Amino acid sequence: MSPLTCLHGQEALDSDNLNGRSVANSEMKKQGWAVDKSMALYHVGGWGAPYFFINRDGNMAVRPSGFNTTFTEEIDLMAVLQKIQEAGEMNTPLIIRFPEILKNRLEVLQTAFERAILLNGYRGSFQGVFPVKCNPDRYVVEDIVRFGRNFAFGLEAGSKPELLMTMACMCKASPDALLICNGYKDAEYVQLALIARQLGLNSVIVLEQEEELQIVLKMSQYLRVQPVIGVRAKLSTKHNGHWGETSGDKGKFGLSASEILSIVKTLKDVGMLDALQLLHFHIGSQIPSLSIVKEGVTEAAHIFCELSLLGAGMKYLDIGGGLGIDYDGSNSSASGMSIGYTVEEYAEQVVHAVDDACALKNVKAPTICCESGRGLVSHHSVLIFDAFSVSKPQHGGKELCRGEDVTDLLQSHDLPHQLSVLSEDLARLVNIGDLEGALACAKQLKLDCACSFKLGLVSLELRAIVDELYTSVSNLMCQESKKGNLRSLSKKAGLGMSDVINDQIVTYHTNLSIFKSVPDSWAIGQLFPIVPLHRLDEAPSVRAILCDLTCDSDGKISSFVSGNPLGKADSFLPLHKLEANRPYYLGMFLGGAYQEVLGSMHNLFGTTHVVHVLGKTGGSFQISLQLPGQTISDVLRAMLHDPLSMFEDIRSQFLDSFKAGRFGGNREATVALHILKCSFSSYTYLSHDQDHHYSVF
Ligand SMILES: *Cc1c(COP(=O)(O)O)cnc(C)c1O
Repeated sequence: MSPLTCLHGQEALDSDNLNGRSVANSEMKKQGWAVDKSMALYHVGGWGAPYFFINRDGNMAVRPSGFNTTFTEEIDLMAVLQKIQEAGEMNTPLIIRFPEILKNRLEVLQTAFERAILLNGYRGSFQGVFPVKCNPDRYVVEDIVRFGRNFAFGLEAGSKPELLMTMACMCKASPDALLICNGYKDAEYVQLALIARQLGLNSVIVLEQEEELQIVLKMSQYLRVQPVIGVRAKLSTKHNGHWGETSGDKGKFGLSASEILSIVKTLKDVGMLDALQLLHFHIGSQIPSLSIVKEGVTEAAHIFCELSLLGAGMKYLDIGGGLGIDYDGSNSSASGMSIGYTVEEYAEQVVHAVDDACALKNVKAPTICCESGRGLVSHHSVLIFDAFSVSKPQHGGKELCRGEDVTDLLQSHDLPHQLSVLSEDLARLVNIGDLEGALACAKQLKLDCACSFKLGLVSLELRAIVDELYTSVSNLMCQESKKGNLRSLSKKAGLGMSDVINDQIVTYHTNLSIFKSVPDSWAIGQLFPIVPLHRLDEAPSVRAILCDLTCDSDGKISSFVSGNPLGKADSFLPLHKLEANRPYYLGMFLGGAYQEVLGSMHNLFGTTHVVHVLGKTGGSFQISLQLPGQTISDVLRAMLHDPLSMFEDIRSQFLDSFKAGRFGGNREATVALHILKCSFSSYTYLSHDQDHHYSVF
């Protein structure tokens, strides 16, 4: 842990030292904490603007139309959750979608390109498409088509199922909207894409491999359709981020210069060169910097111009996806979880680069097409879940004031000589106030005690006391450092403040499956902002990592947005103490892209509930759609089990057991059967509302 991270966490958790700057009410002043401190602590302004912020009530809130949201249109996420819970059918974990955020993202992208076109005096236009692989949810795709109808926004497909889906959805789109057909293709794929043209959809078959051309020629003759063809270029431009492997000479996709020229020759030979109208490339997702955008677009624009000069009917330059998201809010290209540019700057760079190349080669400016996925859908969905318990890395720890406390604790126990010497040392160090020495000593005592235990020399009771002693010293050191009473934080005996902080990190158990809801956190260590949904007007006092419900050691999140200027992640999340009978809710943000579709059913946790929320004119909000997540039966069926016959098997066993008198009585038997039956249709996650008492009827 860097000193900076250390400090960040330390200051944040140290409520004693904070003065109540710009507090909203006296109660907060008393606590010395205000929502602006939470805004800074969780770096909400960095990754969340203009959509997410903390409101005066200390709750996470949403501005669904970004900068265009008025004060009355702000939506409190706790109010939304409360309304969902009042309706009674759904509880956490759940996804809340904000279609208005989606609409706003679409408009931001469109406006950015229109503005860049205007500023550059660019002669071509802009037409975006949404790559459905990013979030193929029916309502997301339908919304995008609906919101984008006015500016001929289209869709991109990369497989046959995606193609059929996009064909159906695009029947409601503008007839000019592009239907980009990417991915590897067989005859059936090509036939579908050609039929799309016959249906009046603007489908473009983008050749991924040279062999696909023969299929396209054959099938267009067979169906008697004039195809519109694109080629996907393999650029030498590459980005070094996690998602950059797609690009470069060894990239998985695209055609080399000679392959493209060979396609041109074949098309020319059959008199169809005018069918070649689009050039496509995709450098990879989450492009970190504008310099790479510029390099890639320039390279592709030159290929476009060359093709045009060779006589192809070039109309569209498709720059692929890659528009990034600032997950850690650092607005830098250093961390890989952020980007060093805005949507406006991205559009400006693209238009500028295309314009330059076309001017140089004197080629007519193409329609610029962009396939941004992550950039469009990440913000609009928020995952909400609860933390239901906490486990400490070590137990309790009593308050320790004087050296005599140590002696008192160990008094009635038989200590082996070495432990006895160490404990006397410890008492002395505590008494003279050398806490660092005391901590090192307590650690040694703990280690030696564990060794002695393995040799059968100390009792379990003594071991527990020694473990607690270590925790006590560590707690004491933490308290003193908050008061500024530690003279130096040397690494004496290998122990420093960061060790103490690590000792204080606890695990919050959360009602969620990381494999289902945040798979990229597990798979590629991706960072997503996670923030408590409420109590943000209170100082958090706990350093935590999060564990999920799965029985998998990988089912945890231990890397968090920090607010570090270079985006260096923190190893803990500052959280509030769990309170009895009061649920604690957390939100995970920016997960609208890829997470839902990549999620797996590990441990048979199913899809979560999804709720759509719309703002109401004049304020407040409405729940426009409630889509229940998978039930236990659903996930069993997905694994080819048959819940009905399973229930029958269990029931016949039940009847035998009942006859054999293994149930207390009629009442108990009825209850048991009822529980069995109901469970099949319940949610796969923990349910909090009741203790699961079933009334007998
Ligand atoms: C995945 C993909 C996209 C979307 O990329 P984002 O980084 O999410 O914008 C666009 N085009 C192609 C060909 C893709 O494979």
